[in-house]
Amino acid sequence: MKYVIKGKTLFDGNNILNANSVLVEDGIIREVGNNIKSDDIREYKDAFIMPGMIDAHIHLTGAKSGNLIMESLIEDPNAKLLETIPWLDKLLKAGFTTVRDCGGTNAIYLRDAIRKGYLTGPDIIAAGKPLSQTFGHGEFSHTIPIKWNEDRGMSQICDGVDECIKGARTVLRQGGDFIKIFSTGGVLSQKDRPDQEQFTIEEIKAIVNEARKSGTYVAAHAHGDQGIKNAVVSGVKTIEHATLASDKTLKLMAEYSVSLTPTLSIQELLVKYGKQLGVSAWGLQKITDVIDGIKHVLPKAKELGINILCGTDLGFETGKDIDIGKNWNELILMTKYGDMSPIDALRSATGNVNNIGIHKGRLSADYNADILVIDGNPSENISDISRINHVYLGGKEVL
Ligand SMILES: [Zn+2]
Repeated sequence: MKYVIKGKTLFDGNNILNANSVLVEDGIIREVGNNIKSDDIREYKDAFIMPGMIDAHIHLTGAKSGNLIMESLIEDPNAKLLETIPWLDKLLKAGFTTVRDCGGTNAIYLRDAIRKGYLTGPDIIAAGKPLSQTFGHGEFSHTIPIKWNEDRGMSQICDGVDECIKGARTVLRQGGDFIKIFSTGGVLSQKDRPDQEQFTIEEIKAIVNEARKSGTYVAAHAHGDQGIKNAVVSGVKTIEHATLASDKTLKLMAEYSVSLTPTLSIQELLVKYGKQLGVSAWGLQKITDVIDGIKHVLPKAKELGINILCGTDLGFETGKDIDIGKNWNELILMTKYGDMSPIDALRSATGNVNNIGIHKGRLSADYNADILVIDGNPSENISDISRINHVYLGGKEVL
């Protein structure tokens, strides 16, 4: 099947083009140019045409409350997997044609089912179980038996270089596309603190080496400055959150070409609605410790030329204005808190993923025809990013 999508303004994942049409054939973009001829021209007169977006940090848990520990312990994991299926449609309709799941086993099954054609949904890049040290962020609760965390797929616990090597190999064997680790404590884990280092440099290096051998990379959850530094010098490719990074560490990130996913949505969500949504008292306390950090970190990261990725870190349904299916809010928050222009925000959800080896997010020959048709012009008014009219996924119209 061959057709042309024609609009008013074209954003190719990097810049606004002096072009108005995209030629699609067999699900692939063949050409981008002006007034390309075709027997099948789909003209969207005043529309903004851009690549499908990528949420580079999500958790496809199927959870319905902010009390993730209770849900994961008392509900059947198979049921949770099935309950995640409606999210796929919500994500597509929100213009997200690819998601990178930063921890959880559901994503592996959903990814494979989508690729086999059993389900329709965004392409999923999955970490599988994240690696955590004992007394780490990967244990949501530090009072329940540690085995429960592992049995319910929250994390692979490893301590010492040998166990880290084995842990890395285990999650790759289970189908992980990349490896997610926790190199500091976090907000939604009971007793560790966001500024606390987790794993040693030796442990992180061992995991990075295993990822490298399999042709992939490591993404590190990290809030505290020292834990970010440890991850960067060990060869990690993306830092998730980075709320407490010092300017010096951000410079190091720039030097090592490490990408940053600031995850503003989850922070805004926890501050605004955490209590209502059943987030535990310790989580509510700890979010206040980190919330202001990113407002300094993000403008500085931008100034240093660090590659910034759009990642919401959403992992449960909220019924609020920040929710699965409204992931584009992240872009609006970037312009609000990050000193980023609308174009910078759009790039973070599209072309910037090329820097971490994801061949998506471009209106360019040989890329998948994941294409959005949007009312208004989000490169001028970022809130127009919510006005999604049509979504093409691999050339097929899904909205
Ligand atoms: Zn996360």
